[in-house]
Formats: sequence, C-alpha cells, structure tokens
Amino acid sequence: MSEKGIKKFKCRQSVRGEGGFGSFNKHRCSFDAVKDGYCTIHHPDYVRKVSKAVARRQEEARRRSPEYKLRMAREEIEVLKKKNKKLRKKLKTYRAGLTY
Ligand SMILES: [Zn+2]
Repeated sequence: MSEKGIKKFKCRQSVRGEGGFGSFNKHRCSFDAVKDGYCTIHHPDYVRKVSKAVARRQEEARRRSPEYKLRMAREEIEVLKKKNKKLRKKLKTYRAGLTY
C-alpha cells in the first residue's frame, strides 16, 4: 500500500522562530495536524490545559513572593486594627456598667 495521495496537513498555528537568526520570523508550525487542523501542542484543548497550568503556577509563585506576603500581612493588620477598635469600644461600655 502506497502513502502517495494521502496529503498530510501541517498544523495551522503560526509560531515565532525560536532563537537565533529566525527569531523575528513567523512561520507555520512544522508539526503534522492531528486534530481540527492543529498538532497536539497547538490544539485549543491542549493550549487551554497548558495555560491553566501556567496560570496556576504563576499564582502559586505570586503567593510565595515576599511582596504578596507583605500585602497579606498589611491587610491582616488592618482587619485586626478594626477588630481592636471594636473591642475597645465594647470594653468601654462594660467598664461604664461597673458599679464599684
Ligand atoms: Zn502546531
């Protein structure tokens, strides 16, 4: 059986040349299309999955950063300050209720 006549489609995604001389040239992905005209790594389903994973990793990295921790600590301080204010007010009313 000959493979002649079976046209293999290439992935429709255009990609940037990776590094070196071709860096600025956009060209078609060189992988064969396997689904919906895309290769396995450029198929929207896969891209979505990967970008979700990337977003999750970025979020995790963000949460580990000192800036994030500092901001969270500041927010917590604000909450505690408000709580403290409320408790002081309560304490005042309790003291006012003391008879001795
Ligand atoms: Zn591709």
